[in-house]
Amino acid sequence: MRVDVKSNQFDIPKSMKAWVLGDPDELSYVDKPVPVPGKAEVLVRIDAIAVCGTDLEVISHGPPAMIQGGLPFNKNWTPGHEYMGTVVKLGQGVDEFDIGDRVTVEIHAGCGHCKRCRQGMYTSCLNYGKNYQGNDKGHRANGFTTDGGFAEYAVNNINTLIHVPDNMSDEEATLVVTAGTAMYGLTELGGLVAGESVVITGPGPIGLMGVAVAKAMGAQPVVLTGTRDNRLKIGIELGADHVINVRNKDPVEEVKGLTGGIGADYVLECSGAKQSVNEALYMCSRGGRVCLAAFPSDEVPVDVKHIVTNNIYLYGIRGEGKSATHRAGAYMEQGVFDATKIHTHTFSLKEVPTALKYARERIEDAIKVVVKIR
Ligand SMILES: [Zn+2]
Ligand SMILES: [Zn+2]
Repeated sequence: MRVDVKSNQFDIPKSMKAWVLGDPDELSYVDKPVPVPGKAEVLVRIDAIAVCGTDLEVISHGPPAMIQGGLPFNKNWTPGHEYMGTVVKLGQGVDEFDIGDRVTVEIHAGCGHCKRCRQGMYTSCLNYGKNYQGNDKGHRANGFTTDGGFAEYAVNNINTLIHVPDNMSDEEATLVVTAGTAMYGLTELGGLVAGESVVITGPGPIGLMGVAVAKAMGAQPVVLTGTRDNRLKIGIELGADHVINVRNKDPVEEVKGLTGGIGADYVLECSGAKQSVNEALYMCSRGGRVCLAAFPSDEVPVDVKHIVTNNIYLYGIRGEGKSATHRAGAYMEQGVFDATKIHTHTFSLKEVPTALKYARERIEDAIKVVVKIR
């Protein structure tokens, strides 16, 4: 929680502690220079950061992280993207934020001038990863194409900052971008979900936030599918009207049963499981919409004939475009749902490898693991 620090100057050291990626899965704890904010940027002192499944993916395999046009290995690069903190220094021309402001961050600033950025689709910037000498289009996606938040400080474009209200804890503030991703999925499905049936498949962090956001937007019924009863129970606490454990029941039959035999208006697929896309298609109504929000590790079969004969719309989302994070953050600020229900474990900055292990192996059924830096 902030005391009134706005009038105080922060002592900014020249160097900081940060984790950097060597070979795949090889992180080292090093000293790095504290970055300097440029035009339209601020320096954020990182107070807390959540571990995301995508962190585990990029640390092990590389993509979608891209540093200097290639894989992120052995480039002194710091991963981590779901962080929050305190503004401690303003770059040139910044008057939107003050020193001492508590902020949470979106990941993608985009380049700001390509066609997709101009459409608000900055997570699909056409200049993705082009931010290095000789090819600098100004794109930034912290923890993917620029340094991220497993460190004491990071530089952020002001477009990626969201004020954190005093009544929100540091840990909860790290979850705003997760809710923002779920919000972006529902936005791309058309956003008009009040009174419509929505199925969320997969009770991971994005799926559980998908339940909360869909309910907040008035969807009815909201159905959650998954394999772990304790996670499905959290889904009920976050607003799911029905949960289906797919180990005991056929999710397609069950959803049909809950929707008068027609199928759901919208499906937000958050599991990444092999059969997930076809199941999502089969539980969707004719003319309905399916949004894919998970990164599957294997190739996934898709029943194209079913899509075409039933006029189903299929969307993919990357991250949190169209200011979705601001909208999700507004729900959280107003206490519409309690995102902290998905926060299960907390570690210190020195313990990042342990935090990643808990998230990867789901030790003690870890859902969202937070690293508290201050
Ligand atoms: Zn993430
Ligand atoms: Zn762009």
